[in-house]
Amino acid sequence: MKPVDEFFGCKVFNDTVMKQMLPEDVYQSLKRTVELGEKLSLKTADVIAEKMKEWAISLGATHFTHWFQPMTGITAEKHDSFIQPSKDGGIIMAFSGKNLIKGESDASSFPSGGLRATFEARGYTAWDPTSYAFVKDGTLYIPTCFCSFDGSSLDKKTPLLRSIEAIDKQAKRILKAFGLGDVKKVTVNVGCEQEYFLIDKKIAELRPDITLCGRTLLGYKPPKGQEMDDHYYGAINYRIAEYMRALDHSLWEHGVYAKTKHNEVAPAQHELAPVFTDANTATDQNQLTMDYMKSIAIRHDMVCLLHEKPFSAVNGSGKHNNWSLSTDTGVNLLDPGKNPRDNALFLLFLVAVISAVDEYQDILRASVASASNDHRLGSNEAPPAIISIFLGEELTHILDCFETGETFVQDVKQKMQFGIHTAPSFTRDSTDRNRTSPFAFTGNKFEFRMVGSSASVAGPNIVLNTAVAEILSRFADKLADADDFNTAVNTLIREGYANHKRIIFNGNNYSAEWEEEAKKRGLLNLKTAVDAIPSYVAPKNVETFIKHGVFNNAELLSRCDILLENYYTTVNIECLTLKNMLNNYVIPACFKFEKQLAELIAAKTQIDVDREEELKYLSFVTDGAKKLIASVKKMDELLVKVSPLPVYEKTKAYRDLILPAMDDARKTSDELEAVFPKDQWPFPSYTDILYSVK
Ligand code: ADP
Ligand code: MG
Repeated sequence: MKPVDEFFGCKVFNDTVMKQMLPEDVYQSLKRTVELGEKLSLKTADVIAEKMKEWAISLGATHFTHWFQPMTGITAEKHDSFIQPSKDGGIIMAFSGKNLIKGESDASSFPSGGLRATFEARGYTAWDPTSYAFVKDGTLYIPTCFCSFDGSSLDKKTPLLRSIEAIDKQAKRILKAFGLGDVKKVTVNVGCEQEYFLIDKKIAELRPDITLCGRTLLGYKPPKGQEMDDHYYGAINYRIAEYMRALDHSLWEHGVYAKTKHNEVAPAQHELAPVFTDANTATDQNQLTMDYMKSIAIRHDMVCLLHEKPFSAVNGSGKHNNWSLSTDTGVNLLDPGKNPRDNALFLLFLVAVISAVDEYQDILRASVASASNDHRLGSNEAPPAIISIFLGEELTHILDCFETGETFVQDVKQKMQFGIHTAPSFTRDSTDRNRTSPFAFTGNKFEFRMVGSSASVAGPNIVLNTAVAEILSRFADKLADADDFNTAVNTLIREGYANHKRIIFNGNNYSAEWEEEAKKRGLLNLKTAVDAIPSYVAPKNVETFIKHGVFNNAELLSRCDILLENYYTTVNIECLTLKNMLNNYVIPACFKFEKQLAELIAAKTQIDVDREEELKYLSFVTDGAKKLIASVKKMDELLVKVSPLPVYEKTKAYRDLILPAMDDARKTSDELEAVFPKDQWPFPSYTDILYSVK
């Protein structure tokens, strides 16, 4: 491999390339669009498009695509070649400003939750110049927003960009009140730690559940799982190391700051974390990372599983969303600095996040809700479904003192040691290794740990940005009306904390006592996605989203519908797959084994020896097969019963009827697997799968 600094970002149309290739006035105009949201003229776009094409062709590109993020949770792309017939029967390579800025595509096959009437199938993609274009596999990728004919968003990027604008606006109002009007931009920073499983492709192909659902629907617990803690940070084996090198290489070429990689807790589980960047880029790059994780795995004869719970009885995968706010003057607004007690600006932003997380628990929980994440949350490897914040003893103590009046920032503006924290004396709380908290303050950022490994991080960040923007806007209103600024700031910190401190919990989130305690505190415990998703249309949330221009009413209704639909469709596919595995594999295998046992018993009858154990064995298998046949019948009946129900009832029925029926069937099947001859069980075992990459 060449030295990394020689090829890092070589496939990205980044600032350096733009500065080199674009005429100065065009470059400046684009910068103003990116930084200040100024409109870009078509003439300027034409020049950018021409240069972008030239650059992409030099890297072997023949096509371009408007890359977007529909509500499927993955990315979508339709490739158009640059070729255009010329008069002499040849071709020219063409790409105009119009091609760059706007695309039109048939949106009818993407989920719209009723936003787009069927007769109006058109969808539009619009260039997002705040995320760099790049070349991948011979195509120029242009990050775009995706919306319907009337401008309603049909994707995850549009509302994310709106929420980034909302929080920038409100945070700047606060900074201005603090006399920091020189800050032109407040950026949301996000770093996503991505967990994943790698298994051998040949083994994966023998499992319809892995192929179709990305998780196992059957499988007896392996004798050795993660009990020995020998996989976590363990030596990385050769095949995995080769894979990780290839992955890093592709990510670096595409400007992703892939930084850490290691083995995770479960066998076959790994993690990759990049250096954080702005939320929009981080979201795009995480999508690209997930794409590469999957495609590079195939090249290495492996399958990458991004599902939140591919195997029962071993840890599932999450995606920690590290989140902070920084100014263009280089200050992290969540950095406590040398002396947090005196850092009123920090405390105010801290209390804003605490208030936002408490007040918007429901929708934050909804932002990580999916059928797949339901299997992980609360199952002793991931935070429970109750949202709480870990602050650490020191900060909690400081805020407690604030509340009781023991400490008081006397002169906010003078004492604020803003941006000059060269030698922080604030020791990061030693308990910041509290791994059980769903929303932990980890030194100078918050870490939202409930996000599922397969999810786009757009959803959680949209909600977090908007909720914090709302609290900041209230704070800014109060500060604008205040007679005495210092008193007003102190009051906001004290009252904000007093009203919302119930959300702070520094203890063990996995314990049963916490569930009790949380209930006493009145915190929500929305156990499943079905309980959480309707929060998207709760009046207080609708009002906030509308106020900050992040979603309109119709968009929220549609999102709620899409998420519910997604839930029951997922479970439906799983149920059909399970039936197929039982009908076509497990039940016939039982019959075959029964026959063998019966023949053995018959032979023994003739020679008159004790057959007691064999008979027990036989009846166990016979009963098991009978139970499985009954389970399949039950699933068939339930599927017919739930099918005509309206969306919400149907989603609930899939949770309350179909999933338990699937669990029942699994239990029977797993008990059979435990006693079956290895060569007669139709699927690779958990041991075969989890230890398949050697
Ligand atoms: P850990 O495993 O201890 O949580 P990692 O180093 O694996 O830590 O991941 C931490 C993630 O947080 C990285 O992606 C890192 O870039 C990101 N991060 C660090 N500082 C910030 C910050 N100020 N804002 C947002 N993300 C941050
Ligand atoms: Mg982490």
